[in-house]
Amino acid sequence: MAVLNITDEEKVKIKNAEPLLWLNAAFKKTITPSVTPSRKELFAAEARLARFAPLLARLFPELESFNGLIESPLLASQNTNKDKPHLYYKADHQLPVAGSIKARGGIHEVLHFAESLAVKNGIINEQNFDYKTLAEPPARDVFERYTIAVGSTGNLGLSIGIMANALGFNAVVHMSSDAKEWKKERLRKRGVTVIEHTADYGAAVAAGRAESDADPFSYFVDDENSSHLFMGYAVAALRLRAQLDDQGIEVNSEHPLFVYLPAGVGGAPGGITFGLKSLFGEDVHCFFAEPVQAPCMLLGMAGTQNSHPIHVKEMGLSINTDADGLAVGTASQWVCDATRHLLSGVYTATDQALYQSLLALKENEKIEVEPSAAIACLGPQFLTSEKGQVYLAKHNLADKLDKSTHIAWLTGGSFVPQEEYQNYLDIARRT
Ligand SMILES: *Cc1c(COP(=O)(O)O)cnc(C)c1O
Repeated sequence: MAVLNITDEEKVKIKNAEPLLWLNAAFKKTITPSVTPSRKELFAAEARLARFAPLLARLFPELESFNGLIESPLLASQNTNKDKPHLYYKADHQLPVAGSIKARGGIHEVLHFAESLAVKNGIINEQNFDYKTLAEPPARDVFERYTIAVGSTGNLGLSIGIMANALGFNAVVHMSSDAKEWKKERLRKRGVTVIEHTADYGAAVAAGRAESDADPFSYFVDDENSSHLFMGYAVAALRLRAQLDDQGIEVNSEHPLFVYLPAGVGGAPGGITFGLKSLFGEDVHCFFAEPVQAPCMLLGMAGTQNSHPIHVKEMGLSINTDADGLAVGTASQWVCDATRHLLSGVYTATDQALYQSLLALKENEKIEVEPSAAIACLGPQFLTSEKGQVYLAKHNLADKLDKSTHIAWLTGGSFVPQEEYQNYLDIARRT
C-alpha cells in the first residue's frame, strides 16, 4: 500500500468506520507559492464573475436584487454566548441558482468556457464588452452548437446543468448511483439530459469523460482535475472576508478563525481553503469533514505529493452514506497536491451523528440543510476533543479559543423538497 501519514491506531479507526480527528503532518502555517495555484488566478476568477454579473441578473430573476452576484449570507449562531467561541454559519445551502456550494465552482467553469467561446468567435472584444449580449442570437447560436458534460453525485450536475442550459448549451449530466431522484427530476424539467449510472461517482465521471472526449463539440467539466472549478470555489474567501469586515469580526493572531468544510472529491473545500489561506495566512485553520465510510480526502491528504490517492475500498469501506454530496471513493490528486500543506486536519463522522446535527440545526437555529452540510457543525466538538487539544497546543491557540471565530460551512439544502427533508428529520428522530 502507498505511504500514508496515519498512525496504526488511526488506521484501525478508519477501517472500523469509527469517527476520528486526523491532524495533517504536512500542514505548514503559511502558503508555499511554488506548490499552490497563484493568487492571480483567484482574482481573475472574481473579476470574471463580476463581468458576468449583469448577464446573470438578466438570466435569473432571483439574482436581480443581488446585481447578478451569487452569494450566501454569513449567519451568527443563535446559541453563541459569551463563554463559548463565536459560531457562524456560511449559508451556502441558500446559494441562489444551484442551492449548494457547487454554484461557486460549477457556474464559474461554465462561464469561463462561454467567455472563451465568445472571445474566439469575436462576439466579445474591445468594442463590445457588454456581457448581456451573450443572451442574444450571435452568442446563443454559437453556444447551441456545444455540449457541456459533467459527472456528478447530484449537486455539481445541478449547478452545471442549470447554468449551461440557461446560456443555451446542450447540457448532459452523468449521475452516479448516489444521486437523489429529485435532483435528476429538477434537471430533466429544465431540459438537461440526465444519464443514470448504476456505479459510483468515480465511474460516472469516467463514463462522462470518455463520452465527451469523443465529441469535439463537447466540453467536459472534470471535477477531479479542474482549476476553473477550484478558483470559482476560492472566490468564496474574498466574499467571506468582506462579510467578516461588515460584521466587525476580527481575524488576526489574537483572534484565530477556524473553518469546517464538508469534503467530497476536494475541489470545493480545497478551493476555499486555498482562498482563505491566501487572505488570512496562519490566522485561519481549515478542517475538512467526511463520512466514516468515505474519508477519501483524509486518505488523499495523508498520501505523498505526486502520488495517486488511494480508494476508500482499500480500507475496507463502502462509500455508503446518506451524505450524497460526500459519497466519493477517491480524492482529486490535483487538489491534494495543491492544498496538502494548507489543511490543518480532517474529521470523520457517522451518518447517525450527521443526522443528529441536521436535527439540532433545525431545532436550535431553524436552518434546514441536507445531510452532507450538517457534518460541518461537528467541527467545534472535534477541535475541543483530546486530539483537537493537541493541535491547539502545538499552534499556541489554547488560550485564544475564547477570542476565536468558528465557521461551519453549510454546503447545501435549500432545494431539497419538503417531503424529503421531513424524511431526514424522521430518520434523525429515530436514530
Ligand atoms: C459537492 C459537495 C461537497 C463537497 O465538495 P467537493 O468538491 O466534492 O469536495 C460538500 N457538500 C455538498 C452539499 C456538496 O454537494
